[in-house]
Amino acid sequence: MNITSSEEIKVTTGDSRKRNLVVYGLTFLLWPAILASCILATSFGIKTEHAALYFNITYVCLALTIFTLERFLPHERKWLKNDGQMPADLAHTLLTKGSIQVLVVVGVTVGIAEAVASKGGGLWPTHWPMVLQAALGLLIAESGMYAAHRIAHEWGPLWRFHAVHHSASRLWFFNTGRFHVVDTVTSVLLSQPLLFLTGAPTEVFIWVTSITGFIGMLTHCNIEMRFGPLNYVFNTPAVHRWHHSRNPAEGNNNYGENLMFYDVLFKTFYCPKRRPPTNIGIDGPMPSNFFGQIVQPFRRDQTTHSINHVRADGE
Ligand SMILES: [Zn+2]
Ligand SMILES: [Zn+2]
Repeated sequence: MNITSSEEIKVTTGDSRKRNLVVYGLTFLLWPAILASCILATSFGIKTEHAALYFNITYVCLALTIFTLERFLPHERKWLKNDGQMPADLAHTLLTKGSIQVLVVVGVTVGIAEAVASKGGGLWPTHWPMVLQAALGLLIAESGMYAAHRIAHEWGPLWRFHAVHHSASRLWFFNTGRFHVVDTVTSVLLSQPLLFLTGAPTEVFIWVTSITGFIGMLTHCNIEMRFGPLNYVFNTPAVHRWHHSRNPAEGNNNYGENLMFYDVLFKTFYCPKRRPPTNIGIDGPMPSNFFGQIVQPFRRDQTTHSINHVRADGE
């Protein structure tokens, strides 16, 4: 039998075209489907009053899902290669997560949270549907996170700390938590009190924290996905890859943690049609080990990050 007959080639070509079309369609559905699953699990956790347990289980499942998809559908194949930064990434993640826990515990113990919440309690629209309350909570928290992130890029003393995050030479789910602890504490201190001041109820805090966790891990993932108009609303991986560009004119944009609202508003949104750069990182010294990275912001030799914004249509 002639296995390379034109009939068979046609069938094979047709099959692979269909398969490519299915994969192409899937790349549009992946991000919203994954985020929706995480949100569904969180709402189930809140209903059963085991929000923390459900969040942790969902977070681990999300990490495993992303890890698997990164192997089968990588955005950038060279980012799958080990860069020797896993121990440092893990140590930064544990230290920053730990410090956030301490901040929350101290806040609750001292009673600041309750005191401020009771004062501002009358302001919060508790009669709104929870989905709108959560959206409002995200928008309020985002203003602080946007400001903290933008200051970290535009003010030299804070850039020293934020440079640790930008020194990553590849983007994948594992370096989501690669932040200098001072960088994280600054961001939390600038964003969380705003929500306290408005008197938002605990459930809104749970939603804001959970969604920030889910979107945060998805943002760094090395999966080939497409987002269309979602890029203008959420901090998608496509938008965040531009933020990690070595070129300050490109990288000093897209400061949103979850939403792109303030980037669009203040004209720091940047997402041109071409493929984002894969040679990412900083042009300056950064030790390869965790302790060196913790100390680096206090040293004399530093990388600089000139302030220069380009517009989304500035191609
Ligand atoms: Zn940044
Ligand atoms: Zn990042």
